Amino acid sequence: MNVDVLVLGGGLAGLSAAYHLGLRGAASRLVVEAKPRVGGTAGSVTKGAYTFDYTGHLLHLHDEYGKGLILDLLKDNVAAHERKAWIWSQKTYTRYPFQANVKGLPREAVVDCLAGFLETVHRPRPLAKDPDFLSWSRATFGDGITRRFMRPYNEKLWRTPLAKLTTEWQGRFVPKPSPSEVVYGALAEQNALFGYNASFRYPVRGGIQALPDALAERLEPGVVRVESPVTAVDLREKVAQVRGIGEVRYQRLVNTLPLNVFLDLATPLPADVKAAKKTSGGIRFGT
Ligand SMILES: Cc1cc2nc3c(=O)[nH]c(=O)nc-3n(C[C@H](O)[C@H](O)[C@H](O)COP(=O)(O)OP(=O)(O)OC[C@H]3O[C@@H](n4cnc5c(N)ncnc54)[C@H](O)[C@@H]3O)c2cc1C
Repeated sequence: MNVDVLVLGGGLAGLSAAYHLGLRGAASRLVVEAKPRVGGTAGSVTKGAYTFDYTGHLLHLHDEYGKGLILDLLKDNVAAHERKAWIWSQKTYTRYPFQANVKGLPREAVVDCLAGFLETVHRPRPLAKDPDFLSWSRATFGDGITRRFMRPYNEKLWRTPLAKLTTEWQGRFVPKPSPSEVVYGALAEQNALFGYNASFRYPVRGGIQALPDALAERLEPGVVRVESPVTAVDLREKVAQVRGIGEVRYQRLVNTLPLNVFLDLATPLPADVKAAKKTSGGIRFGT
């Protein structure tokens, strides 16, 4: 088989690449996907009356082009939601995020959290350039909020002692309310919504699988081949071996497989890439 563009992987990246290259006039495209369905990580499985996403996928559509495309793909199969998230601690429920909603906790816990937070405002602690999460949390939210929520929650989530966790990831994922918001949330019900996922869209039917399925339907018949794992790529000869299809000669290659999987399949690799590959662990398709 000969194609202009061979796309490895039928997740959102592979499908989107094939779709947009088609819009830009690529002569012929082939997307090869190992699994029986497209979608990759952003896919779902259906068991009886239930649909399970491989991992929770909420649609936060900030980019105008992406928003337009996704809403057009899903048409009436999408609904807007407001997050309703509650935290069970100290034998009671409080609203997420904990640090902005301590009202409702036992009185001593409210005092502990509020006093600890105000300490950080009045006597800011010096922080190292790249602090560990525990020091950062104590300096940002205070000892009470850290001990009662940040530490137990994040150690459960990351399964790592917080003193060993870095902080460069936290950015928009850990809301940092202002002093007035923290005090307000200790005294009254917060109306303010915090965090990047306060509202989101999600398909009405079919789980998140509805999105890659709709994108795949935009491609001409035959462009996507499922149950077709690529087993080897000769980068010099520009030819890939694909189970169920055979030899595929391409002009241009788009890889969307996990990089370590791709590097196990591709030859020849430059020496520095080989060396870098040796130093990383990784997963393999089918294991
Ligand atoms: C826990 C979690 C939560 C997330 N939440 C969100 C969210 O809320 N919102 C959001 O926008 N994003 C979210 N993401 C990110 C999003 O899932 C990914 O960015 C996106 O799905 C990646 O798509 P991809 O096509 O690059 O990769 P993948 O989905 O990994 O696609 C790669 C494809 O390659 C296929 N493949 C592998 N080996 C072979 C082979 N040898 N031959 C052929 N095919 C092969 C795989 O089967 C797969 O279909 C989340 C990710 C995770 C892990």
